[in-house]
Amino acid sequence: MPEAVFRHIIDFSLLLLQIIPQLYCDTCKRFLADRLVEGTCPTPDCNQPARGDQCDSCKKLLNPTELTEPKCKVCGTAPCIRDTSHLFLELPKLKEKLEEFKKSVDESWNNNTIQTTKAWPKEGQKSQCITRDLKWGVPVPQKKFTDKVFLDAPIGYISITSCYTPDWEKWWKNPENVELYQFMGKDNVQFHTVMFPSTLLGTGENWTLMKTISATNYLKYESGKFSKRNGIGVFGNDAKDTKIPSEVWRYYLLINRPEVSDRLFAWADLQAKLNSDLLYNLGKYVNRVLSFIAKPPGNPLG
Ligand SMILES: [Zn+2]
Ligand SMILES: [Zn+2]
Repeated sequence: MPEAVFRHIIDFSLLLLQIIPQLYCDTCKRFLADRLVEGTCPTPDCNQPARGDQCDSCKKLLNPTELTEPKCKVCGTAPCIRDTSHLFLELPKLKEKLEEFKKSVDESWNNNTIQTTKAWPKEGQKSQCITRDLKWGVPVPQKKFTDKVFLDAPIGYISITSCYTPDWEKWWKNPENVELYQFMGKDNVQFHTVMFPSTLLGTGENWTLMKTISATNYLKYESGKFSKRNGIGVFGNDAKDTKIPSEVWRYYLLINRPEVSDRLFAWADLQAKLNSDLLYNLGKYVNRVLSFIAKPPGNPLG
């Protein structure tokens, strides 16, 4: 029961109620998530088509209410602005507990993670909105908030486990016997090094906290960036459709893992690495060993 998990996940004394303006679509009868709003970038020199949270042309981060001529991506109607109340987690009240947690794990964090965590803007450390106006998700266990759900990232790890097994506490409330390792791109680091542990520490209960985090830079696609939203890149189902053996994908993605800087995924490079590293170097080595076994050289003394 995910609700049961969240009933004690957050101490309400650590929460702040804030009223914020948000775009509401009267046709769809719902508040619009950032990705469901399209419009024009409000930056005077830009004025290019932009989506809810960012302009792809000038790269400026946006609030959907700032867009010029916003439209609901589902029905095309112009949304209106409505006030809605949300719960915010007061991170400053958890600062000491978080610092203590960080001291216990710092050695296992790579430089990338430490730098990204430090780079989180000051205003981001004040308080973070943890509820959403959505029809699906984990309901907030308070009468006043029956129409809200919790933002499921990253506490969704726990609710997903609890949907999967009634024994979820064996994993998530067992820090003595469970070591939590997390892997991600740098854009997700702060949610896992600040938000996630703060949320769990705020309950005062014995949760399994992240022990080791491995964060990478970005893997870019050809000359731009991967974008599932815009259909740019190659994803799991595309990789399967190519019929290229999974071992080749594994090899290429591992040697191309963006450990210290952004790396590029390029089809021509994949082909070159397949031909040079796997076929030529590894293939030749295997061929020589097998030929040697099949036809042993004559006795040098004979
Ligand atoms: Zn709509
Ligand atoms: Zn722009």
